[in-house]
Amino acid sequence: MVHNECVAPALTDLEWIHRLPKAEVHLHLEGCVDAAVVAVAAERHGATSPLPLDEGRPVLGGLAELLAYLDWSCALITEPDELATIAYESARRSSVSGTRHIDVIANPTHWPGFADRLGLMLDALDDGFRNAEADGFATATLCLSLKRQQSATEALHFVDWMIERRHRRVGALSIDGNEAAGSHNERFAEAFGRAGAAGLRRCAHAGESSGADGVREAIELLGAERIDHGIRALEDPAVVAELVRRSIPLDICPSSNVILGVVPSLAEHPVVPLAAAGVAFSLNTDDPLLYGIDLAGEYARSAAAFGWDRPMLARIARTSIDSSFADDDRRHELHGELEDFLATNA
Ligand SMILES: [Zn+2]
Repeated sequence: MVHNECVAPALTDLEWIHRLPKAEVHLHLEGCVDAAVVAVAAERHGATSPLPLDEGRPVLGGLAELLAYLDWSCALITEPDELATIAYESARRSSVSGTRHIDVIANPTHWPGFADRLGLMLDALDDGFRNAEADGFATATLCLSLKRQQSATEALHFVDWMIERRHRRVGALSIDGNEAAGSHNERFAEAFGRAGAAGLRRCAHAGESSGADGVREAIELLGAERIDHGIRALEDPAVVAELVRRSIPLDICPSSNVILGVVPSLAEHPVVPLAAAGVAFSLNTDDPLLYGIDLAGEYARSAAAFGWDRPMLARIARTSIDSSFADDDRRHELHGELEDFLATNA
């Protein structure tokens, strides 16, 4: 009889995924507000959701409804303490999925309660993230986001403020919003150029509500180092080739794409042909609390749908760390954690 009490039992695939050190780089602050927090704030303001709710979450028909809901829900948040709690909880919840770092996209246009006090908003978020890190949860970098409908002047003012303020929690400039009525990348080229020259990292939503042209413009006009979604790059082989040639990763959000109707089903998700073409990508939740998902679930669902094995998931985790805007030291640490884990849990 073999005595193997000292040998740890093999991890199930879901346990392995939960323990796999990884980063999440496409996570909206606006999608990390707990339904209970929204309910309390709505009560305080005597406000009613513009969308029907199911277990506190909005019933979504597409991207336009999602954005309208965020405008409503985030406007209810007016207290710095609420923001600190939202930030802390975002990092804590992410850690449950084995996420060791989060790049959090925050778009101030969704938060009118802080329109004239953006510095206070950043300080409050920083407090929450710092406390979460002190408690051993995921580290966090903020990507401050422009909205597609803003003017060139508004974008420049915002970027100039970011550069002048140089908040230690902010690592990147981002842009998001609905591109159905146009991406307007030329309008934002100067703002992104200024941000890049000042040392800010750059990412852009593209190839979700825009097609392959939106992805090409995000690269060429905005200098995006990472494309948020980017899946519709597949509509133009030349854009796919450009992503590969420049080693620009996509941050793909499979469930979000299905829920918002960008793709008809998970089985038909473009990540499979994009991966086959050699495009680097990470997996992400986008708006986890609005969809009722977490990152470990995205890895597990994708593995099941696409037949991905552990080496493939490890490769995606590596790309997630490479894609993140954590500083060099932190990324080095994260890679170390990942390789240590794989050395004993291949
Ligand atoms: Zn997004």
